[in-house]
Order: sequence, then structure tokens, then C-alpha cells
Amino acid sequence: MFLISHDSYPSVQWHILCDFDGTISLKDTTDHLLEKFALAGWQEIEQEWEQGKIGSKACMQRQIALLDMTETELQQCLDQIEIDSGFIDLVKLSNEHNIPLTIVSDGLDIVIKYILKKYDLAHLPIIANHLVQVDERHWQLEFPNSNPNCLSQSGTCKCMIAEQHYQEQTILIGDGRSDFCLAETADYVFAKKSLIQHCLKKKITHVSFDTFAEIQKPLTKILRSQYRPDDSTMVTA
Ligand SMILES: [Mg+2]
Ligand SMILES: [Zn+2]
Repeated sequence: MFLISHDSYPSVQWHILCDFDGTISLKDTTDHLLEKFALAGWQEIEQEWEQGKIGSKACMQRQIALLDMTETELQQCLDQIEIDSGFIDLVKLSNEHNIPLTIVSDGLDIVIKYILKKYDLAHLPIIANHLVQVDERHWQLEFPNSNPNCLSQSGTCKCMIAEQHYQEQTILIGDGRSDFCLAETADYVFAKKSLIQHCLKKKITHVSFDTFAEIQKPLTKILRSQYRPDDSTMVTA
């Protein structure tokens, strides 16, 4: 191995894939909208998903059809949602290192875009389910990124997205069930909440975190490094 100065362009092409709900946003936005605007029945559908009877795709498709809200009501509700402000620094860091950052979410695309816009982050690429307004108070969900072979029957198959980036070294930042499959193939995993338990159970090397501020340092180390994850020891927080 030879030495390369830190500011030279990395020979490893990294790509950050970052979850949205519960990771960037402090609250799960889909749950928040359902609690506020869904007609009766959405909790029973949620239970079917929790018990593993249906995948998240079927779950959300049925739940979104129960939403009863205008676009203005939706926007007013989203105005109350905050993000982890450390995410803004993460975007800066990825820019400085020329590392693409994509938001990969099993949530709602226009919701994510609306929230990011408040923080001047609407330029970030978003891969998510597509929320469509059908009439003044009704909505439906479309799945441009689903995969019939998806093990977790998600709306957005994150493993398929990871496969499309196979030639890059991927860094996953996530918090929950929609990140489980991606955690198996990502080169680095930053995990919070139930994703930590999943990584421990599956013996997936990861760095646990609560807020983005905590991963700024370990991530900087990774992005500056020339080594590939498999021939190095894990960078710790
Ligand atoms: Mg999440
Ligand atoms: Zn999948």
C-alpha cells in the first residue's frame, strides 16, 4: 500500500445511501400522517404488518388509501416535522468529498421533498414510493422501485437499489426494518434504533449512533481513507 495525501481524489468510489423516516426526520412521517388524517382501520393494517402477515408495500398501499386530507392540510402537518440538524453537515461533508448521497426510503417521495425543501436540501436525489393525489381529499401510493422478489415485500426494495450500486462502496445510514436487507450488503453501516439489534443478531459490523453529529468524525475518516472495507479494521465512533 502506498500513501496518498488526504485531499487527492479517492480511488474508492463511495456512495452514501441514507434512510429518511426516523433517520433524517425525527418522526416517522407516514405514521404521523396516518395518526392525524387516516380513517379508522389503519391500525389493524399496521398490526398485520407487525405480525409479518403482509409486507410494507401492501401495508402502506392500504393505509394511504385511508388518508382523508387536503394538500394544504398535508403541508401544514409537514411544517411541524423536524429533521436532525446534523444531517445538513453530513450533506456538506459529502459535497466536500464529492461523494454522492441518495435518500433511499420506503416512505413518501413528495413528503420527503417538501420537508427537505425547508432546509434547502431539495436537490438531493430521492428514491421512494410515489404519493399521488387522486382528488381533493384522497391519495394513493405507487411503487416505482418495488421488486417482486423482495424478501421483505417492501414498497421500495432497498436491496435492489444496492445492487444497482454494486460497483461502488456503499455506506448505509438507517434506523429500521426497511434497512435490514441493505445492511447485509452495504460496505459500512451506521445504525440507530432497531437496525442496531438487527446488525447484532446478524453479526453485521456497524457503528451505532443517535444523531448525525456523532457520525461526522467516523464518516470523515472513511471518506478520506483509501482502503477498502474488507482489508481494514472498522472505524469506530
Ligand atoms: Mg427509517
Ligand atoms: Zn428488497
